[in-house]
Amino acid sequence: MHLCQSPSSKKVVATSTIQCEKGRGSSPLEVKGFINCLEQFDKDSFPISTVATDRNRQLAKWLREERPEIEHTYDLWHFSKNIKSKLRPLIKSKKRKVLEGWIKPVGNHLFWCSENCEGDPVKLIQMWLSLLHHVTNRHKFSKKYPNYPKCAHKRYTKEESLKKKWIVKDSPAYVALEKVICNKTNLKEMHHLTNPYHTGSVESFNSLINMYAPKRQEFSLNVMDARVKLAVLDHNCNVGRKQSVIKRKIKIGAEIGEKKWKFQCSRLSKDWVAKEVKVPKSYQFSNNLMLEVMRRKASNVVEIHVAVVETPANIAPIERPSTSEIISKRERLSRFKRDDI
Ligand SMILES: [Zn+2]
Repeated sequence: MHLCQSPSSKKVVATSTIQCEKGRGSSPLEVKGFINCLEQFDKDSFPISTVATDRNRQLAKWLREERPEIEHTYDLWHFSKNIKSKLRPLIKSKKRKVLEGWIKPVGNHLFWCSENCEGDPVKLIQMWLSLLHHVTNRHKFSKKYPNYPKCAHKRYTKEESLKKKWIVKDSPAYVALEKVICNKTNLKEMHHLTNPYHTGSVESFNSLINMYAPKRQEFSLNVMDARVKLAVLDHNCNVGRKQSVIKRKIKIGAEIGEKKWKFQCSRLSKDWVAKEVKVPKSYQFSNNLMLEVMRRKASNVVEIHVAVVETPANIAPIERPSTSEIISKRERLSRFKRDDI
């Protein structure tokens, strides 16, 4: 399942449900799903200027060659998550323990670089690499990075500086961090980050999909497509709900409202975060759907369109042998086991 979401309204505006193909990875499917979504916009002559996607080189190549007029942005959240996932295993060693306090700032720094590089990929890379100086308590680097000659933060006081866990240059922690920060593939693809965008709200839609189409259950393509569309209706009817407010009476006739929060501790970052508690969801869309079905039934208007799609029986990478072949193989194996004893 592939989807396109409007960055301003956060509503899902196009979806594409595709059957997995035998022995093929997910990357070509992502490209196919993306093209299907794009075709829906083309059909309505809806112009697309920028798209933000997960990191997918095949898709980047397709867009570069087939639709060069569209700006292709990578999702910052996934990019940053990937970098942080490379840093986390490093802190297991005592020699690199100091990196623990830097994982979150490194992730935040990527967001900050993207938001402040003014669309300049050279500046973005220089800002990103300057981190290797900042972590050693050096904040001026005009000769090395002319587009970003010094850190943008205010000058630290002596007390502030003493509180920071600076990393010693060329120490094991520094060398390991340098390897991650200077990763060639990342640097090569960073020009996709000059237009900051993150698809965090798509993640919440994916968890909604799991509710309508649980992964442990199997569905035919048509049913899967219908379930995805139900999830889209649910999402679009409820996206952008306001934060819930608890009203408290302070005296007769007067009350105050207090915003409702829930607090969660992230297992990965080991940090507590406050999340807004939204007002309850509305399921009016399902009532409207049921009413429409009943109306059509009552007026004998039957408009059911079933698209017949030929789908493969399975997605196994090799052809299924005959039943007798599989059974005789099983018998052979069980005979070996007996003989081993
Ligand atoms: Zn600095």
